[in-house]
Amino acid sequence: MFEKERNEIIKTGIALDRYGLIALAGGNVSARMSDGNILVTPSGMIYESMIPEDIILMDVNGNIIAGDRKPSSDTEGILYIFRERPDVMAVIHTHQPYATAISLIQDEFRADLTTLGNAAGGNVAVAPYSPPGSIAMGEDTVKYIGESFAVILAHHGVMTIGKSIKQALNAAVYLEESAKAYLAAAAVGPTKHLTDAQIRQTVEVYKYVGQDSGAIPKELTERI
Ligand code: 13P
Ligand code: ZN
Repeated sequence: MFEKERNEIIKTGIALDRYGLIALAGGNVSARMSDGNILVTPSGMIYESMIPEDIILMDVNGNIIAGDRKPSSDTEGILYIFRERPDVMAVIHTHQPYATAISLIQDEFRADLTTLGNAAGGNVAVAPYSPPGSIAMGEDTVKYIGESFAVILAHHGVMTIGKSIKQALNAAVYLEESAKAYLAAAAVGPTKHLTDAQIRQTVEVYKYVGQDSGAIPKELTERI
């Protein structure tokens, strides 16, 4: 059951590795299925050697429906997100180094780079430390993520969410790209800011980037 989605989850894990967002078996990928149940990656397994049956199907309360593997150690927190946010269809957790590094120095990653407007839909909050495997990881994600697609978990990693696995993957990849650029600048000197209005404009513009939308409305491309 859900063979296509299982394969997409494995491909997404391999992409996380390819983009440098995880090492070995770090992080996890989960997604809500059309019947409301959740697919969660197994704990501590490398994505490249994963087969579709390794992914565990469970209900939102963690009752296993199919699969013999031990599910992700973060399952409690992941399921909390799916229960609290019915709009969320996918959750990705990574230990991506650049975004995580930001959590060691500040409590918010401001969307001063347009890439972050695209990735996350605005500023990205840093949630306080919660232990790996805790339900607090999920509680903090829901509490701090707001309208954004990403939150940084202090001293640990990143949670991204999306209406699709692809959207959650994009959030993680572009968040890391922005974090790299930001940290390169911050290592040299104080960084400059976009205004709040410019950030809002960026977020709006990116709604029209890609194949699923029309052209960018002219008024959104005016310099403000
Ligand atoms: P799992 O392999 O158990 O999903 O754990 C990875 C992780 O990132 C723990 O927070
Ligand atoms: Zn983790």
